Amino acid sequence: MSKFSSYNFSGQRALIRVDFNVPLNDKFDVTDDTRIRAAIPTIRKILDDGGSVILMSHLGRPKDGPTEKYSLKHLVVPLRRLLPGATLLFVKDCIGDEAQELARSLQKGEILLLENLRFHKEEEKGDKVFAEQLAKLGDVFVNDAFGTAHRAHASTTVIAQFFTPDKKMFGLLMENEVASAEKVLHNSQKPFTAIIGGAKVSDKILILENLLDKATDIIIGGAMAYTFEKAQGGNIGKSLCEEDKIDTAKELLAKAEAKGVCIHLPSDSLIANKFANDAETSTAPSNNIPDDWMGLDIGVNACEQFCNVIMHSKTILWNGPMGVFEMEKFQHGTRCVASAVAESTQKGAYSLVGGGDSVSAVNQFGFAGKVSYISTGGGAMLEYFEGKTLPGIAAIQS
Ligand code: AMP
Repeated sequence: MSKFSSYNFSGQRALIRVDFNVPLNDKFDVTDDTRIRAAIPTIRKILDDGGSVILMSHLGRPKDGPTEKYSLKHLVVPLRRLLPGATLLFVKDCIGDEAQELARSLQKGEILLLENLRFHKEEEKGDKVFAEQLAKLGDVFVNDAFGTAHRAHASTTVIAQFFTPDKKMFGLLMENEVASAEKVLHNSQKPFTAIIGGAKVSDKILILENLLDKATDIIIGGAMAYTFEKAQGGNIGKSLCEEDKIDTAKELLAKAEAKGVCIHLPSDSLIANKFANDAETSTAPSNNIPDDWMGLDIGVNACEQFCNVIMHSKTILWNGPMGVFEMEKFQHGTRCVASAVAESTQKGAYSLVGGGDSVSAVNQFGFAGKVSYISTGGGAMLEYFEGKTLPGIAAIQS
């Protein structure tokens, strides 16, 4: 049993760093409560044990202190709905006398939600005094915010030093995130296919480099594929290309060959005469795109080519769309890949999907329940797969 699951929180005030950075509309309604729901099992376990909970999070990127738009008070109603029967209090400053007093007098089964941590600039600066003030609010520190684990902020990392090793731990969400990432990175069954897509090679170089030592196959889709095509002498028309990354692409291809990793580039592309949903479209080999046209999705042959590789995989990691999936005309490739990942998972493969756009695609196309794990952390997940040590994780483990 994990440290969190075996811990008895009875009579303890658990200070939980959650990631409640959720989207709000103009009326301050939460439009997607996935991140709130993801934290509920951790909160429930503590309350069921007979403990109390203090929740702290950031929301958005407030620049000038307290701002209505970024107030966590907007989360009180959805939280009460998701935690029926529990008493939920809110305090309008995450530090100070009122927060101290409310935290001190919390009864078992009660929850205190703190106002946005980033209303204090000390949070992002990783200020030690601020972290210590937060630490005083709880007896135990639980980090359940994988989405911010790559930041050395006061509430994610610095705070951990004020708790002894037995009084700091991951929550259930964080445990699952770490376990699924570890399974893919260090314990993968082969063939292991990484599907990397999206806009820029520059954002994905480090993850590609690291995966060369882990994966057997790497599928490259999305706009970044065209930099690789150009690196091999292809004509890519007006498709997106990072000229200054052509040499990097060449080096990656050479390294892959030396290591015996198979790189799959889309054999053909769905091309368009402009970047718009009402563009004229056609198909062309990805290395022979006419001058005034651009590749905005993988083509039908590439779909088959990629699906074949995915169906023969035992481990799958997916980050980044295959095309401009926000436009209906160019979402076929991403949908095909999502469907193949789901089907391969059904056949027994382990699949991990991460990164904002691939997660939205999986949700949008209805495959969310059909993959093994969907990571809640975009940037954190990328850094984990780049092989970096995440400060939020290291602080708990030290
Ligand atoms: P990223 O944030 O790097 O994962 O990139 C995601 C973005 O890449 C999405 O907004 C896609 O619309 C965009 N994208 C994917 N394929 C293409 C393409 N062929 N041309 C232009 N943009 C693309």
